[in-house]
Amino acid sequence: MPLSNTLENNLQLSKYNVVEYTEDGALVYNTNSGAILKLNNTYKDKYNLLMKTQITEDTELKHTLIHGKMLVNQTYREETTKLFLENTISRFSGNHVGLTIAPTMACNFRCPYCYEKGKEYATMTPETIAQMKKYIQNLKNSYKRIHITWYGGEPLMAFDIIKELMEEVYQNFDKKYVSSSAVSNGYLLTENIVSDLKSLNINRIQITIDGPPEIHNTRRCLPSGDDTFYVILNNLKKALELYPELHVSIRVNVDKSNINRIDEIEMHLKEYDLLKKVSVYIAPVANINGTCSDGQCFNVKEFALEEINFIRRNQNNGIGLIDVPKKNVGMCGAVSLNSWVIDAKGDFYKCWDDVGEINEKVGSIFDESFEINKKLLDWLSYSIENDEECLQCPYLPICMGGCPNYRIKNKGKNCHPIKENVNQILHLIYDISRQKGKDNV
Ligand code: SF4
Ligand code: SF4
Repeated sequence: MPLSNTLENNLQLSKYNVVEYTEDGALVYNTNSGAILKLNNTYKDKYNLLMKTQITEDTELKHTLIHGKMLVNQTYREETTKLFLENTISRFSGNHVGLTIAPTMACNFRCPYCYEKGKEYATMTPETIAQMKKYIQNLKNSYKRIHITWYGGEPLMAFDIIKELMEEVYQNFDKKYVSSSAVSNGYLLTENIVSDLKSLNINRIQITIDGPPEIHNTRRCLPSGDDTFYVILNNLKKALELYPELHVSIRVNVDKSNINRIDEIEMHLKEYDLLKKVSVYIAPVANINGTCSDGQCFNVKEFALEEINFIRRNQNNGIGLIDVPKKNVGMCGAVSLNSWVIDAKGDFYKCWDDVGEINEKVGSIFDESFEINKKLLDWLSYSIENDEECLQCPYLPICMGGCPNYRIKNKGKNCHPIKENVNQILHLIYDISRQKGKDNV
């Protein structure tokens, strides 16, 4: 029912509002806009009345809610339709292309959980590199912006290929429209490579650390079993001295076997003067190709709890900034026409986790024309618009139905952790705002 006594007709509370009550009022969080509104007890009562009766005479409250997209002139159905329209636009139009390129599938580590286990460790041949260059030249006819993520295997093992292909990118695209990042284990991040990263403007790197040295070195190991932990920290320390603009994010893959030791990583980062220079986040070891068969992986609920505990401890230690997850209208590159994963043989895939799985291949840079094979059809026609639970879910703008790989491969639904820990996240944000004496969150 539309609101009466409003400045505009047909306003109603957004279906993406999440309300969390606090001791002195309430927080209203809109998952579509990302806005959080802190209400004192008086305004909480007005908001509750508004929810119940669809009526309010408080102009200030109305304006503030409109500003945060908490009060919208759309029906529930229209809000969802608009979200899916934004999703379609994001997936199938635009002047940007995102490539995830594995110049090699070889890796210097032998991590037990690695999903590349058993796959071919190819590296790009001169023919593949030449064809990649032609492919990049053609892209400039359709796109203005390009983002390249270097992936593997361990991409730094084929750094000459990265350099050669980045130079090709810069010859074809305006430098200001090129961005690039890398996913690496950090072991080969030598001073020479860092100086090249800087000149090529590859300014983001994600590195995995799985615990303090005695845990990390068994999970992220060399064939020899020698230390990798301290080598990586040393490399990072030197890298950030040489290239302070490099954004380093440390990913900690967690399961039940290492979760109790992850805080020790921060102690080591502090020793190396890295704690305030890198961002650290935890991610669950995912059930890719049977990696969770030992029962050590977390389910979404368990992970959500660990995640909020981790964030809370970091806040208490003055590390990191808490925020709510952002709207993710495009879902992920795997279901977009403007995003491709290319392996060392020049084969196209849609999902990072499928690289090297020949049955999942959706094309090749050597193809003469663009064909939509059955696998590609699955990705590009992917839709959650018939999932009633998702359609009703207040977290839809953030989650958009979770990882498409799960559904396409019939592994079920992969709900976003926010569904399980939104209360704690909002309370934590509220506690912090109180400590800082802020009126607004
Ligand atoms: S997958 Fe789960 S959290 Fe995500 S939109 Fe659907 S119901 Fe909500
Ligand atoms: S489909 Fe899932 S696993 Fe694959 S890239 Fe997207 S989010 Fe990641």
